Amino acid sequence: MPNYREKYNFPTNIDGDGSPTALVLGSGTSTGVPVIHCGCPVCLSENPFDHRLRTCVYLTCDGFGLLIDPSADFRLQALRYRIPRIDAVIVSHAHADHVFGMDELRQYNRLQENSTINIYARDFVIDDLSHIFSYIANYKPSANSQMYRPQLRFCTLPQAPYKIGPFTVESVILPHGPAKSTGLKISAHGKTFAIASDCNEFTTEATNLFSCVDFLLLDGLRDRPHPSHLNIEDSVALMKKLQPKIGRFIHISHDIMHAELEARYPHNYGPAYDGMKVILGKDKPEPPSQAALNYIKF
Ligand SMILES: [Zn+2]
Ligand SMILES: [Zn+2]
Ligand SMILES: [Zn+2]
Repeated sequence: MPNYREKYNFPTNIDGDGSPTALVLGSGTSTGVPVIHCGCPVCLSENPFDHRLRTCVYLTCDGFGLLIDPSADFRLQALRYRIPRIDAVIVSHAHADHVFGMDELRQYNRLQENSTINIYARDFVIDDLSHIFSYIANYKPSANSQMYRPQLRFCTLPQAPYKIGPFTVESVILPHGPAKSTGLKISAHGKTFAIASDCNEFTTEATNLFSCVDFLLLDGLRDRPHPSHLNIEDSVALMKKLQPKIGRFIHISHDIMHAELEARYPHNYGPAYDGMKVILGKDKPEPPSQAALNYIKF
């Protein structure tokens, strides 16, 4: 087996000196933006910030790579941002936009010397994943089975704080229309990140857990109300209450141009965008990378 990292010169980590860092791989809602064959101004925009791949975030610390939600666009995201490694994955809930990149993880099995990758989620999500991905959950490697399937281990994430590599993960279950989702607070080296990308209400438990983090990503679908998601006004009002150092809304639809949202929210509570990178603890995101500025022409 060739060493792919040496062969293709993959970077060993994206976190510079090892500081906890969050990279937004996708900031879009379930359809992604542009929406297939939509002719609206946002979908036709050539501003790269108006392209929103499906919601997905990559966290690194000390060279450990933690993926939040293997989105339906994960292959494109991994290529675009040259994601070097995936040591563990957390899944917030099993909606298609958040999990249909699961099969792409098999390439990381190869890159990482065939090691199995742990997929963490609360028990109700593990039940769904085991059905949707039964060919992965029931996979038993053996000497004569050479099937090219992902080697993943589905693990229940407990309610109590739980250690995954250098990160400590705390989670809270949130209402998401007729479904449920998981809000996550993830800490390392005294720095904190939190995400609740799919929810239509915030519980007291979530409010307590998510207060005063360094970087917060909250559901903010669009201006109009939606039965399963917070709208932008709700999301920004919540940020003002939760007081993160940097707060951005995510899971954004094709209803509004990025520039319009930036103008509406000129301070630290505003829209996330694909390729947004935050070194946790800093009071501003890093300048957008070339990958974030590259317009993908479809
Ligand atoms: Zn979603
Ligand atoms: Zn559109
Ligand atoms: Zn959802």
